[in-house]
Amino acid sequence: MSNYIDELKTKLLEITNINNANALLVWDQQTYMPEKGSVARGMQQATLNGLSHNIFVSNEMGNLLNKLKENKEFSKLSDDDKVIVDRCYEDYDKAKEVPNELVMEITKARSEAYMVWTKARAESNFKLFEPHLEKMLGYGKQLADVIGYKKSPYDALLDRFERKLTVDELDPLFNDLREKIVPFLEAIQNSNIKTNPEIIKKHYPSNKQWNFTVEILKYMGYDFDCGRQDKSVHPFTISFHPNDVRVTTRIKENYLSDALSSSIHEGGHALYEQGLSSEYYGTALCEYVSLGIHESQSRLWENLVGKSKSFWKFFYPKLKNYFPDTLKDISMGDFIQSYSHVNPSFIRVDADEVTYNLHIILRYEMERDAVEGKIKVKDFPEIWNSKMKEYLGITPPNDAKGVLQDVHWTGIMGYFPTYTLGNLYSAQLYHFAKNEIPNLEEQFEKGDFSLLLKWLREKIHKQGRRYYPKDLIKKATGEEPSADYFINHLYDRYGETYQIARMMM
Ligand code: ZN
Repeated sequence: MSNYIDELKTKLLEITNINNANALLVWDQQTYMPEKGSVARGMQQATLNGLSHNIFVSNEMGNLLNKLKENKEFSKLSDDDKVIVDRCYEDYDKAKEVPNELVMEITKARSEAYMVWTKARAESNFKLFEPHLEKMLGYGKQLADVIGYKKSPYDALLDRFERKLTVDELDPLFNDLREKIVPFLEAIQNSNIKTNPEIIKKHYPSNKQWNFTVEILKYMGYDFDCGRQDKSVHPFTISFHPNDVRVTTRIKENYLSDALSSSIHEGGHALYEQGLSSEYYGTALCEYVSLGIHESQSRLWENLVGKSKSFWKFFYPKLKNYFPDTLKDISMGDFIQSYSHVNPSFIRVDADEVTYNLHIILRYEMERDAVEGKIKVKDFPEIWNSKMKEYLGITPPNDAKGVLQDVHWTGIMGYFPTYTLGNLYSAQLYHFAKNEIPNLEEQFEKGDFSLLLKWLREKIHKQGRRYYPKDLIKKATGEEPSADYFINHLYDRYGETYQIARMMM
C-alpha cells in the first residue's frame, strides 16, 4: 500500500506551519512592532516566504502530485483526499510558474511599501508613495505574465483571489450594479426624510467602546479562548490555526461607527476562520475558499445582521448602559438610522451600504486600466478624484482622503473586486438563511446568534475549499450568484427609511 497521500499531507503541514509562523510576523508588524524593525522584518518574511515556496514548488512535490494524480492511485483515495490532491495540484501548477526570486522580491518590496504608505498617508504625500506603487504595479504585471492569461492580464491577478473569475464576467456585473445604485442614491439624497448623522459622532469614551465591541464579539460566537482583539491603523483578521484567529479594531472617541463596524466586520471574518475544520489543518479542506466568500462572512455580520432592528433590539439597551449620558433621550430607531446613515463620503471603510460598492468599482476600474497599461501611476490622484466626482458626486480635499487611503496598493492588485462580490454573496446567503431558519431574527432580539452561525458553519465554513466560490454559493443557496438579493436588501432597508417607492429593475 502506498503512502503517497500521507507524504503529501506531511509536506503540506510543514508548508502551512511556515506560512503561519510568517503570518504571526505580519500580525506583529501591524500591531506592536517598532518602526525601525521594518527592514529586518521584511527580510525575515522574505526568507520564510522563500522557504515555503521552495518546498511547495520542489521536484519532490511535483513527483508526489503526479503520482497521486495517476488513475491507479487517485481512484484509491477517499473523496476528501481527492479534493485535497486536486486543489494542491492546481496551486502547484500556478506556483511553479513563479520564480522564487520574484516571490522574495515582492515580499520585501511589499513590506517597504507598507511602511512608506503609512508615512505618505499621514503626510498626505502621494509623491512619497508613487515609486512604491509603480514598483508594485510592475510586479503585478510581471506576475500576470508568468501566470499567463487569455485576454486581460488582470484576469491572472483576479484568479489569485477569486478562482475562475474574469474581467469579462466582472465588467457587466459591476456596470449593472452601478446603474442600479446611482439612481437609488439620488432618490435617497432627494428624499424629504433626513436621518441624523450626528448621533454616532457624539463622545463615546474609548475604553467603553472597547468593552462593548468585546461583548458583541462574544455574543456573535467569536471564541476568545481561540483568539484576541488588538488595535491597528487598518483593522484586519489573521489566522494561524482555527484555534488562534485574531482580530484588530480601530477606535475613535467621536465616531462610534469605526470600532463598531470594524469589530463586527472582522468578527465575521474570524468566525469563518475559527469554523474551518481543524482536523484537516494543513490541507485545502481547512482553508478559506476565496476572498469574495471571506468578505461575504464579514459583511453579512457587519451589515445584514449588525445594522438590523432585531440586532439592536438586543444591543441598544446595553449600549445605553455603556454611554448613558451620550445616548440620553435618543431612541433606538434614531440611533440605527444614524449608524446606517447614507451619505457619499471619501473613505471606503466608512462608506455606507448604498455607496460602498461605488468605491470598489472606482478602484477596480483603475486597477484594471493600470494593469492593462491604459493609465499611468503618476495620474492616479487625478483619475481617482475625477471618478469620485462622477460616481459619488464629491472630490477629496487631499490624497490621504483619496488615493492614499487604502493599504491594499502596497501589495499586488486584483483584490478589490472581492469586496463587492462579498456584498453580493452576503445578501444572497442571508436571504436563504432567513428562509430556512424559522424565526431567525426573533432569536437575534434575545441575543442568540447561534442558529445563524450554525447555518454558516455547515454551508460555508466546514466546506473549506471543497468547491469553487461560485459553486459553493450555488450549493448553499441553490442559485447562481446574483446581484438581485443585494439590491432587494437595499430597497427593503433604505427604501423604508427614506420612503422610496420601488423602481423597476
Ligand atoms: Zn473584510
